[in-house]
Amino acid sequence: MQPAAGDSPQVATAPPAVRPTKRSWRSAGELAVDLGTANTLVLVKGEGIVLNEPSVAALGPSGEVLGVGLDAKRMLGRTPAGIRAVRPMKDGVIADFHVAEQLLRRFIQLTLDRYLFRVKPTVIVSVPSCITEVERRAVRDAARSAGVKRLYMVSQPIAAAIGAGLPVDQPIGNMIVDVGGGTTDIAVISLAGIVYSKAVRVAGNEMDEAIIHYIKKTYNLLIGERTAEQIKIEIGSAYPLDERTTMEIKGRHLIEGVPKTITISDEEIREALAETVNVIVDAVRVALERTPPELSADIVDRGIVLTGGGSMLKNLDKRLREETGLPLAMAEDPLSSVVLGAGKMLSDFNLLRKISID
Ligand code: ADP
Ligand code: MG
Repeated sequence: MQPAAGDSPQVATAPPAVRPTKRSWRSAGELAVDLGTANTLVLVKGEGIVLNEPSVAALGPSGEVLGVGLDAKRMLGRTPAGIRAVRPMKDGVIADFHVAEQLLRRFIQLTLDRYLFRVKPTVIVSVPSCITEVERRAVRDAARSAGVKRLYMVSQPIAAAIGAGLPVDQPIGNMIVDVGGGTTDIAVISLAGIVYSKAVRVAGNEMDEAIIHYIKKTYNLLIGERTAEQIKIEIGSAYPLDERTTMEIKGRHLIEGVPKTITISDEEIREALAETVNVIVDAVRVALERTPPELSADIVDRGIVLTGGGSMLKNLDKRLREETGLPLAMAEDPLSSVVLGAGKMLSDFNLLRKISID
């Protein structure tokens, strides 16, 4: 069986993948984990981000997990028979508990085995804000079987806001928009709690799919998800660019059945992405409308912070600024805000107690 196109792993855009290789005596046995829909990151206190891999598992014919992250990806290219790629964190919820549990367990174990020598760690896992009790249990089970001593769960938007440097525990409204792989999460945070949140299942992956669809419809050309992602990153945009750019792309012609190369422009890709981008813009508008007035006033003054890999789409910030008329800032490191925020919690126990989910 061939892996479904939508399930192939994504790594092209993440910062260079790092796997823990050394052991350190400085490490206090405290980890922060961002279980994202596209990428999972692990941070070790005192060391920084030590693991960054796609949230993908390779499953064998009877559903057994054969590998996770980069290993899963490698396996997929090489072992054709009966192996599937699965992204258990689809759409911002844990779509497949069993696989998500294994993914989390193996990533934690990998970090412990190679990095923290014989320490039972304290772990903060950032989870989707709308996590259910069943999903929380899956995270707890995974942590337990990985030998975690103390587990805290924090919601991703709050972690992202902390990572982006927002004063989340003040009585001030902060709006964070996290455009990830599977979902765009919008949250208004004040006094260490989520006052309003909205998630739409439209983000980076959906942009890739929109590009695949557009190229197929317009040129009868079939391209893979990786190519679509490259196109998005290189010439995709949410608002006209200063300079026109083009890109050569290769795919399989659907009628002639042969490989073919075409040249596409940024304008075409903007058109391909228009609908997806509109969904994100509308979701931000709705969030602004539903925000309590006092907090709205804060947001007018302080603006919106954009984070998540998908927010790096060219001119998405400009487009949102234009549409909302509000100040808007990009987080310094959009792919790492969540894990960095969860990491900061490892050193701020008071705040952690306030924001952790049981
Ligand atoms: P998640 O938190 O859901 O795992 P991430 O925040 O890691 O998601 O973001 C992953 C998404 O970001 C992917 O869809 C990826 O294609 C997209 N992405 C990464 N870099 C860029 C870029 N420079 N431009 C546009 N999209 C990007
Ligand atoms: Mg994320």
